[in-house]
Amino acid sequence: MDTSPPEPRLSALYQELILDHYRRPRNKGTLDGATHSVSLNNPLCGDEIDLQLQVEGGAIKAVRFVGRGCSISQASASMMTQLLKEKAVPQALALAERMSAMMQGDETAAGDKSLGDLRALAGVSKFPIRIKCALLPWNALTDAFKGQW
Ligand code: ZN
Repeated sequence: MDTSPPEPRLSALYQELILDHYRRPRNKGTLDGATHSVSLNNPLCGDEIDLQLQVEGGAIKAVRFVGRGCSISQASASMMTQLLKEKAVPQALALAERMSAMMQGDETAAGDKSLGDLRALAGVSKFPIRIKCALLPWNALTDAFKGQW
């Protein structure tokens, strides 16, 4: 009888995509001319995200992040930065809400193409302790615009 505890089991394709973003993060680094900067950490897992944004005329012109931690937090940050460029701030915040809904198990959000590669993280919603990992960069994004939009 198998008595080992349950582990996150995502499809092989999705695991591959998550690891690809973890190993070769997109938009990693610091941003000259950042107008918004937020650092957040997730003490439960040891994840850290430092998000920098350059916003002009209500749209995100550039985005970079620096971070360390588990593959889910870092892949989520990398996938998020791919989606944010040239988005109007309200659009970016709408994506954050979609992402949050997907992490709460909303299946229509999980099928929403606007979330791009992030849909690979839908299966994480079954593992409550990892949801904070996946949402850490998104919480940094919403913090960056708190009270402004
Ligand atoms: Zn984590």
